[in-house]
Amino acid sequence: MFQTTIQRPVAAQGIGLHTGVQSKLRLVPAPADAGIVFRRSDLDFFRIEAHGSNVARVSYATSLMKQGVLLSTTEHLLAAIYSCGIDNIFIDIDAIEVPILDGSAEPFMQLLDEAGVRKLRRKRRYLKVLKPVEVVEDGRRIGIYPASEFRVCCYVDFPHPMVGQQEVEMAVNAASFRQILSRARTFCFEADIEPLRTMGLIRGGSLENAIVLTKDGVLNGPLRYVDEFGRHKALDLIGDLALVGLPLLGRVEARKAGHALHTQLVSRLLVDTSSWKITTEEQSADSESAPEERFTPARAAD
Ligand SMILES: [Zn+2]
Repeated sequence: MFQTTIQRPVAAQGIGLHTGVQSKLRLVPAPADAGIVFRRSDLDFFRIEAHGSNVARVSYATSLMKQGVLLSTTEHLLAAIYSCGIDNIFIDIDAIEVPILDGSAEPFMQLLDEAGVRKLRRKRRYLKVLKPVEVVEDGRRIGIYPASEFRVCCYVDFPHPMVGQQEVEMAVNAASFRQILSRARTFCFEADIEPLRTMGLIRGGSLENAIVLTKDGVLNGPLRYVDEFGRHKALDLIGDLALVGLPLLGRVEARKAGHALHTQLVSRLLVDTSSWKITTEEQSADSESAPEERFTPARAAD
């Protein structure tokens, strides 16, 4: 397998979910071994690599920071790029936050479709997991385990009649991501809106870019999938795993996790160099047959 980039530059613009700041986004082809790199086009194209070593603070979104330069809410765009197997790309942004667009990864998938994929003449390098690495924290947990392909299993449990327990398990590739996860939108609870605003967050949040859950229903339905919440959490997980910096050969299992736990796992994995190796072999000879995909079939499709 060879490394890839995009064929041609593409652009989009929109408002940042947390800062409320308008930004222009441009995806630009990058050479082999460049990796996924954000560039602040308003700051002389200052580079911030999409890598665990640049994770800044993580609460309701994942932010990267390098030498004091911040870039927020990277996860939905990174989920699309990583799932599509784009190894090298420059993401030029003229502000502090990636636009939220409709709250899902679908607009980014459309952008990548428009950009096309270009194969480069350099072998792709994978990070192959050799032994488990786990992070456990009061009832929440996340772990990564050896597997012959990149898989995620994401379990959520919110005490809300529209959510409850939802679980998604899948091999991650462009087709599965597009079909199962890409359209799942960000969500928040109506009761959290004021406290979040007070904290200076969700200034760009609206009914056009987030599902708002009321006490016992959804303020701005219909949902795109009955288990849109669990699917969105799996999307977030993949976007944070992109910070490993290389395509993964391993299975990630997340139970009631979030951005903080996702990025802790990435950091712990990268530090524990005995738990993985870098290889250009996509499949090992001992690969066993993988389990089927599991998710709730779409019912409320619009
Ligand atoms: Zn999200």
